[in-house]
This record gives sequence, C-alpha cells and structure tokens, in this order.
Amino acid sequence: MKSSAPKGTQDLLPEVTAAWQQVERQFADLCHLYGYEEIRIPTFEHTEVFQRGVGDTTDIVQKEMYTFEDLAGRSLTLRPEGTAGVVRSFVQNGLASQPFPQRLFYMITAFRYENVQKGRYREFHQLGVEAFGSEGPGIDAELLAMLWHYFGLLGLEKIDLHINNIGCPDCRAVYREALLDYLRPHQAELCEDCRGRLERNPMRVLDCKNEGCQRVTASAPLILDHLDEACQTHFSGLKRSLDALEVPYTIDPRIVRGLDYYTKTVFEFVSENVGTQGTICGGGRYDGLVEALGGPSLPGIGFAMGEERLLMEMEAQGALRKPRPAAQLFIGSMGDAAWQKAQMIAQNLRKAGVAAQYELCGRSLKAQMKYAGKSGARYVMVLGDAELEAGEAQVRSLIDRDREQQTFSIHDTGALEAFFLAQTE
Ligand code: ATP
Ligand code: MG
Repeated sequence: MKSSAPKGTQDLLPEVTAAWQQVERQFADLCHLYGYEEIRIPTFEHTEVFQRGVGDTTDIVQKEMYTFEDLAGRSLTLRPEGTAGVVRSFVQNGLASQPFPQRLFYMITAFRYENVQKGRYREFHQLGVEAFGSEGPGIDAELLAMLWHYFGLLGLEKIDLHINNIGCPDCRAVYREALLDYLRPHQAELCEDCRGRLERNPMRVLDCKNEGCQRVTASAPLILDHLDEACQTHFSGLKRSLDALEVPYTIDPRIVRGLDYYTKTVFEFVSENVGTQGTICGGGRYDGLVEALGGPSLPGIGFAMGEERLLMEMEAQGALRKPRPAAQLFIGSMGDAAWQKAQMIAQNLRKAGVAAQYELCGRSLKAQMKYAGKSGARYVMVLGDAELEAGEAQVRSLIDRDREQQTFSIHDTGALEAFFLAQTE
C-alpha cells in the first residue's frame, strides 16, 4: 500500500533543506550575538498549558489544537506554538533564579488544525525567542533590532515592521468598554466569528480579515488613544530606541495579535509576497504570562517567525542561495587496487573537511563519470593502474572544462587537501 503524507504536512527534500539549514544556522549564530541561548522543549504538553498559556478565547485553543488522550487517559496537545511550553519549562526548572534578562531561543515544529493554503500548514516550523525579567522598552527595541539585523543578513529588503502598544490590563479594561460601546450597535454587520467573540474578546474583532468587520472597525476607537501614562512612556521609549538603532517601523494601531497574553508592545513583520498570509513574524510583550503559568510575577517578551513563510519570502525576493555541491571531488577508479586507494583518499579528504565521493555501485568508469557529472561534483580524479604506478593522478574541473588539469600525489594527500580547502573558502 502506498501512503501519502497527511494534509497540511510537507516533506522537505534535499533540494530545499540546504536553504533551511542556512536560515537556521544564521538564526542560532545571531541569537548568540544578542545573548540568547537555545532551549529545546517537548513536542506535546498537558493540554492545560496551552489553555492557560495561549488563552481559552483564542482561535488556536478553540479550534486549531491537536488534542488527544494518551493510553493512560491524560489530555495532551501537540504544541501549537512555542511560548507556552517555554514559559512552562522556565517556571518548572526555576530559571527565574538566574540573572536577568534571561534570553532563550528555540527552533520548533508546531501543529495547528488549519485551513490549508499557501503559507498555512498543519505542521509548520517556527524560529522564536523569549526574554524574561526586563520591564523597560529597551529589550523590546533590542529584540526588534535583532530581527531587523537578521532579515538584513538573509538579504531580505522588502519587509515592513509594524508596531503597536495594546496597553496593560488597567488601560485595556477602560478601552474594552469604549470598544464594546462602539461595536454593540454594529453587531449585525459583523461576521459570525466576531459576533461570537464580541463579549469575550472584543479586540479580536479589530484583527478580523472579514470585509464587513473591517468596514465596521475602520472608525472604531483606538487603544493608542486610551493608554495610561506608564504604557505611553513605554511606547515612546521603544520608538526612541528604534530610531536610535535605525530600525524603520510603522505604527499600526490595528495590530492586536491573536494571543490573550500580550501586554504593551506588539509587532508584526509583514510582506506583500506570502500569498494572503503576509505575516512572517509576530510577537510582543507578555508581562502576565509567567505568573499565569504558576511562576513569579515577571515580565517577558518574545516573537515567533514562520520558517515556511520566511523561506517563501526569500525565494520571492531572490535571496535564496544555491545549495552546496554534493561533492568537491569524485574519485573514479578502475580495478580493485585503485578502488581501495580511492576509498582511502576520499576518507582523508573528508577528515580534512573536503566533501569527497568515490564509486559505490560497481559501475564502469564511463558510468562513474556520468554519475559524477549529474551529482554536481566540481572536480573528478581517475585512478587506474597507470596512476597507481606513477603515484600521482590528475584532477580535472567539471565546471570549467578548459581549465588545465593539475597533478597531485596520491600517497601524500596534503597538497590535494590544501587545493580543495582553498576552493571552499
Ligand atoms: P495568522 O494570522 O497568519 O494565522 P498567527 O497570528 O496565527 O498568524 P502566530 O501564532 O503569531 O501566527 O505565529 C507566528 C508565526 O508563525 C506567524 O507569523 C506565521 O509566520 C507562522 N504561522 C502561524 N501559523 C502558521 C501555519 N498554519 N502555517 C505556517 N506558518 C504559520
Ligand atoms: Mg493563525
């Protein structure tokens, strides 16, 4: 029986994984420069971690989770995002006793039961960070500057940062009433989802993509006009640092973010290219979350970036680099003695850091050369009786066929290694 992968999942084949590795390596290196260290968390958690950590009123918890009972009857859920699990781990492992800010990054798969479309899958990948213990806007700006730095390194030019401040529980309570007073008379014009969430979480209506809802909310009161003094000061501090760090941004009072736990700073990096799913990265501050998950009262901020959408964006902007060639050198051989030598030379080259291959399917020399060409090898060397006797062999370029062949000793492979190492740099 032939099976196919479940809807919404993807196989990442060798032709694309080199780009994925590059994006992940650069992310980890950059995180390190900014003081973030990697955390690895479980793929599934007790369901309540997401109910409390993501929020009962969110789309994620209400309709997107892969929840199941294990054989002992526990309710478990495949992580739909990283923050709740990271905070659960942070609290459980007592990381709050370490010096602040505590900066963590993660690279995970996440699972959501979604309507599958371009840039929207049921299993997808996120790169994210969380920083705990710093209250002021400085760390918000540092984190956004890191993202801006990252997009620059990846060669992404057309990407926009939108920021907003959605207040603290105090100013939000006042705003919530103002918003409800405005929305209630328009209830009939809202979509079904929004009618349902109006009383539970009216700010989410601002986030709705439905045209009718957008018409209604076009002149709704804005949270930015309802911020208390502390939240206003936080927002102006953030803007001042972003200006100083030369990170361009747009203030977008309509960003509310989907998750319940956000406070003050929220942001999104958006692009035109990712189909209708224009958000590549989103995040914000969540000053109440650590406490909500049983830890001390401790501020936090983080973001999560969709890796599929990031790579789609890189492709659209021509920023994807070509994959590395499979081998720098393919060593063809005729006869067993020559094959043994090829095996030894390839192993020495690999130990020196040079990608090398030799024949492993018992093919004729002609077929070996054909394979070498197809495999993307840049150079070939052929070993036969004559080469064994002379103790040297020629290296020929497959990329530049006019280039002169070079002769190397096959007993002392130091010169051969040096030749290829110089090419790799
Ligand atoms: P959207 O509004 O597109 O549904 P979201 O607000 O649900 O996004 P977050 O929970 O903030 O997304 O997740 C952070 C990032 O993860 C998103 O900006 C996006 O790049 C990516 N992402 C979210 N859901 C998916 C998905 N189903 N498939 C692929 N990437 C996703
Ligand atoms: Mg979503």
